Amino acid sequence: MPEIMYPLVIDTLGIHLALGYGIHAYCETQGGRRNARVNLVRLGRRVGRDYELSSENLQKHLACAACRWAGRDANNVSFRLHGCTLPYSDVASRASFLAGQR
Ligand SMILES: [Zn+2]
Repeated sequence: MPEIMYPLVIDTLGIHLALGYGIHAYCETQGGRRNARVNLVRLGRRVGRDYELSSENLQKHLACAACRWAGRDANNVSFRLHGCTLPYSDVASRASFLAGQR
């Protein structure tokens, strides 16, 4: 994991992972309208943890599979950053899982 430096600049894939941040991808193509959480660990294996996570860079690697299959514009995807909070937190999902075990 990269060292966290201040002032904090959240720009690289490694910093996003170190802070527990996540990214959701949203298909903006008419007829598509799907969304999914981006697997940053998997993406990091391809591009490296120093890769700058801008929308332009993410669009080079991610497209909507459903739109590609349907022959629509698959690259009309937007991205939204979210912190490690409910409902995206792994801690929250583990807590609800453990609560279900009781
Ligand atoms: Zn789509």
